[in-house]
Amino acid sequence: MTASPPRLRFAPSPTGFLHVGGARTALFNWLLARRTGGTFLLRVEDTDKSRSTDESTRAIFEGLQWLGLDWDETVVFQGANLERHRADAATLLTSGKAYRCFCTPDELTQRRTAAEAAGGAFSYDRRCDRLDTAEIDHRVAAGTPFVLRFRVPNGETAWHDLVHERISFPNKDIDDFVILRSDATPIYNHAVVSDDIAMGITIVMRGDDHISNTPKQILLYEALGAPLPQFAHLPMIHGTDGKKLSKRHGATAVGDYQHLGILAPAMVNFLALMGWSPGGDFEEVMTIDRLVHAFKGDGLLRKASVFDPKKLEWMNGQHLAKMPIADVEALVAPLFEKAGLATVAQLSARRDWFHHLLEQLRVRSRLVDEIVTQAAPYFADAVTYDPDAVAKQWKDPGAVLALMTGVRESLESLESHASWDPLLLEEMMRTLAESKGVGAGKLLQPLRIALVGVSASPGIFDVMLILGRDGTIARVAAAERRLREMMASA
Ligand code: GLU
Repeated sequence: MTASPPRLRFAPSPTGFLHVGGARTALFNWLLARRTGGTFLLRVEDTDKSRSTDESTRAIFEGLQWLGLDWDETVVFQGANLERHRADAATLLTSGKAYRCFCTPDELTQRRTAAEAAGGAFSYDRRCDRLDTAEIDHRVAAGTPFVLRFRVPNGETAWHDLVHERISFPNKDIDDFVILRSDATPIYNHAVVSDDIAMGITIVMRGDDHISNTPKQILLYEALGAPLPQFAHLPMIHGTDGKKLSKRHGATAVGDYQHLGILAPAMVNFLALMGWSPGGDFEEVMTIDRLVHAFKGDGLLRKASVFDPKKLEWMNGQHLAKMPIADVEALVAPLFEKAGLATVAQLSARRDWFHHLLEQLRVRSRLVDEIVTQAAPYFADAVTYDPDAVAKQWKDPGAVLALMTGVRESLESLESHASWDPLLLEEMMRTLAESKGVGAGKLLQPLRIALVGVSASPGIFDVMLILGRDGTIARVAAAERRLREMMASA
């Protein structure tokens, strides 16, 4: 007999944005589903009407879509399943697995306070489970409000967790918990189990913070006569200071990273390595396809993982450097347009040139926006000279002027565009430096300021290629003018 492919789900509560921890949970469920030919479902746990918002539901959908975590089947909204939650609770009542409790919130609070004052912990004493049938019927007929409590059996509740291996809880530590409130709305654990059974979920993978809910949920499955799913509780995510990840650590919403210029495949790659490892010697930088291929339940790690934004940026740089250049163009061309450098149409009209520029800049960028910033000098009519770079590289304007004039004259001697070749240019500049009696660096660093105005740029000969013959010569000539002004005002 072959086991059917698993059914997994991500079950966010729409009370905020899609956070890093939630996205990681969603991703692991999605990866396992895609790896095994299983099904990945999305359930919005919107039963807490006071905290759930449509805006948050939308943000969660958008976050998942951005990451490429597509779900199968229609989205389940927990709040729409109220009738089934009630029916399942009624089944438990009828089968004697649950009972009506008429204790009022005030009475319970009083007993809790008294127990705590006596130095003990409160647990429900099951007094309503001891009421006789006639009394129960009488109270129900009189309209006395009641909740439904689950009668926790003796023994212990244990499961084999896919992450933590065996986990067990003595049932004596579990109170007879409420499953249905007096307004006939379900308590969280009951709604989750009712839905997971109805959705045919076979693997429940979620954060560690749900471990204490699991024994209660297992007891409900058993009482409802439903087969148990497998459970996997993923370790928490910490900040670099070892504390649980929170707003103090900076952006925690996935959408914030999208706006900061992180690429979805880099975010996915980064999240995948928080709590999972493919094992052995592995290449950390992986495409989504590669992750799907490599993802296995036995690579789930037990210890908390660390969210390091620096590593995320590094990861982004790696993806930026490796993705198809046409994809980089599609991503950044609109940003170039927004920054006023060139329109998307202008860029596509010079596609080969633009791709060459992107090839040079992407390997020097970690964030998408850095490509745009670095590209600015190649689109400006006039170079903006960075004062620090000028102070450092053009310290002696007279000497630099002589060098720049030499550069311009040599370049002008290269009449044909065909000879505008990095190797040839390099040879020419080295020969020139030698003839002027300076080291190549003494010529090339000041030249870089002349061409782009700043001291960081791609290799100088690539810069010359990007600017083209006329552009390069014009910038050297402009630098000569500036140097003369500097000399005149000195
Ligand atoms: N709605 C719960 C949460 O957002 C998840 C419940 C579950 O995965 O069982 O934490």
